[in-house]
Amino acid sequence: MIIMTYERIAYGPVPSRRLGRSLGINNIPPKFCSYSCIYCQLGRTKDMRIERRRFYGPERIFHDVEAQVMAVNEMGGPIDHLTFVPDGEPTLDIDLGREIEMVRDLGYPVAVITNSSLLGDEGVSEDLSGADLVSVKVDSVDEGIWKKVNRPHGSIGLKDIMDGLMDLSGSFKGSLITETMLVKGVNDSKEQAVKTAEFIRGLDPKMAYITVPIRPPAEDSVEVPPDETILRVIREYSSRKLRVAALTDREFGDFTYTGDVKNDILAITSVHPMREDSVREMVERSGEGWEMIDEILDVGSLTMMEYQGVRFYRRKFNSK
Ligand code: SF4
Repeated sequence: MIIMTYERIAYGPVPSRRLGRSLGINNIPPKFCSYSCIYCQLGRTKDMRIERRRFYGPERIFHDVEAQVMAVNEMGGPIDHLTFVPDGEPTLDIDLGREIEMVRDLGYPVAVITNSSLLGDEGVSEDLSGADLVSVKVDSVDEGIWKKVNRPHGSIGLKDIMDGLMDLSGSFKGSLITETMLVKGVNDSKEQAVKTAEFIRGLDPKMAYITVPIRPPAEDSVEVPPDETILRVIREYSSRKLRVAALTDREFGDFTYTGDVKNDILAITSVHPMREDSVREMVERSGEGWEMIDEILDVGSLTMMEYQGVRFYRRKFNSK
C-alpha cells in the first residue's frame, strides 16, 4: 500500500476543554514559533522566529477550512469554534487578520490561541480584534521564570508583552481568556502564583485557565505539580475575584473522522499528540485496521512516545 499524505491546514473538530468541539486551523508550517516552551508537546523549537510573514495565504486557508467544515457537516458533526491553533505561533502569520475575517463568513465563532509574545506589535492586536475569542498565554510575569519556562527568542521583551496584553484587554470586544501552564518547581510557587494572579486580574479575563502538562513535554524534566499545589494556585486566583478553572485531565469526546482517517490523524497529531485509546477509537470507527497506523509509523510520518504510563502518537516531520 502506498502511503499518500498532504499537509492539511484544517483538522478535527477535536474535543477542547475550553472551546467545545473545535475545528483547528493550522495556519503555520511546523514548527514556526517565537518560544521554545519546556513543556511544548511538539518538541523543542529548533528555529525560533519573530518576523511576521506570509505562509499559506488567506485563500488557501479559507479553501481548506471551508472544505473541512463541509465534510464535518456532511457527517452531521457539531462545530463550536473555528480555532487558529497551529503547530507554532499563529500570530507569526501576517495574513491572520484577513484569514479571521474570511473564515468568520462560514458562520461559526472564531478563536485564536496565542502565546502572546508578539502583542507588542500593534498589527497583531489589530488582527486579533476580528476574532470572537482570544486565549493568551501568561505562564509567568517574572523575567527569570518566563525565560526558564517559555525560552523566548532573544529579541522579545516581557515588558512589551505585558503592555501589549493590557492594551488588548482594553480594546478587545470579544471574549479574552488566559492560560497558565503550571510546571512543578518552575512557576508553581506561592510567590509566582500571587504575581501571575495579580497581573491576570488586571486583564479582567472571562476565565483564567490553569493547565498542567498532560501530553509528552519537550523536556523530560517537566512534571505536573501535585494536587495540593494546583489547589493553592487556584485559591490565589479566586481570592482575587478571578473566574478560574483548572484543566488537569485529558479531554473527553470524539475526534472527528471525516472519511479519510489517515490524513485526519496526521493533521490532528501535527498539533495535538493523541493518546493511543483515541487513535484506536478513530481507526475502529473508520473500519480500517491498526496496520494502517503501523504503516504510517514505518514510513516515519508518525512517532510513538510514552508519558505518564500512556502511549501517545505525534506527527513527525522529516525536515525538523
Ligand atoms: S507551547 Fe506553543 S508557544 Fe510554546 S513552544 Fe510550543 S508552540 Fe510555541
